Amino acid sequence: MRSVCVLTSGGDSQGMNAALRGVARASLSAGVKVFAVWDGYKGLVEGVMSELSWLDCSNMVAAGGTKYGTARCAQFRTEEGRRAAVVNLVKANAGALVVIGGDGSLTGASILASEWDDHVQKAVANGELPQDFAAAAELHVVGLVGSIDNDMFGTHFTIGCVSALHRIVEAVDAIRATAASHSRTFVVEVMGRNCGWLALMAGLATQADFVFIPESPPSPCTSTSVPTVSTTTGELLESWAATLVAKLARVEGKRWSVVIVSEGAHDCKMEPITAARIKEVIEAELGHDTRITKLGHVQRGGKPAAFDRYMSTNLGIAAFDALAGYAAAGPPAPEPVYFGCSDASVYPVALHPAVAATRNVHDLVAAGKYDDAMVA
Ligand code: ATP
Repeated sequence: MRSVCVLTSGGDSQGMNAALRGVARASLSAGVKVFAVWDGYKGLVEGVMSELSWLDCSNMVAAGGTKYGTARCAQFRTEEGRRAAVVNLVKANAGALVVIGGDGSLTGASILASEWDDHVQKAVANGELPQDFAAAAELHVVGLVGSIDNDMFGTHFTIGCVSALHRIVEAVDAIRATAASHSRTFVVEVMGRNCGWLALMAGLATQADFVFIPESPPSPCTSTSVPTVSTTTGELLESWAATLVAKLARVEGKRWSVVIVSEGAHDCKMEPITAARIKEVIEAELGHDTRITKLGHVQRGGKPAAFDRYMSTNLGIAAFDALAGYAAAGPPAPEPVYFGCSDASVYPVALHPAVAATRNVHDLVAAGKYDDAMVA
């Protein structure tokens, strides 16, 4: 089997190191050369890669971030950039590429795979690659979903989401203690882009009083079940605000609350529901002393949880096994393969990664499972 290149791309997520190590150690065990590409697609475009030895991959599963770096690479979005990447892969005698990243990175991998033959031919025509070198060039691509957002259709857990959830839960536990001590309300903003998984799971795990997620604006715009006029200004309240106020006021004598808002939360007219606006509403309508905490990048820094270490290791090994299978079978696979993971097993994901639907969250919301659990 020709050599394997592996890179991490997009936002870093806990477990990327374990996934890269899984790919590398499985390759080395099979006697296949493996290269780590530095800084994601940037390193591929610029040809910056290091051949890995067994020891290069030691002592790395517990480390946060990504050892070989990541970057957002504008050049890779252009045909010229991707041709430079193809030339560098051919020069490294790569027969396989493993991309560990989010939906953008995997979309890029898909495009690279579909354009491979064209780029090789053009590079030969331009004299960027010698004819004989390129003649045998073919590439198999495998993608592993690395993102704390857990926003990939078809996989239960993306690399890093469980660690990020642990981090959020730890932070909200700490905030809840201070909220209770000072009789304050805290609005905690969490990441997730357009996916509410982190917010929803953190809400359930910390007994939050209310959670805003993008998949389910809190009440229909037409709701008539809650008062919609502000008690202080007499003006009409947004329906989500009215619902929030009604819920927080429901438990008599409750002196503090925790509200979790996903960074992508919006109302049913697609207007953002921000932490600042939530604070304004709570202060005006309920008179609670209210503070905002944005957890920010602390959610994806630091050590991966045990689950991310073992799942990502398994995913890395599965990636190599798939590549070895393709190499043994001969002709290139028509499409790249992506791997997803449930709690017990690793499986290929059949759907295109650009379909970043959030089925797990939708299932919970549709079943009405989360609403009743709120108001701790
Ligand atoms: P995260 O979920 O953490 O944001 P991501 O992989 O979605 O991770 P992006 O910034 O969207 O992060 O993508 C990472 C890199 O992948 C981009 O900088 C770019 O180089 C490449 N990429 C993304 N989308 C495309 C595309 N449509 N075509 C080619 N390359 C792309």
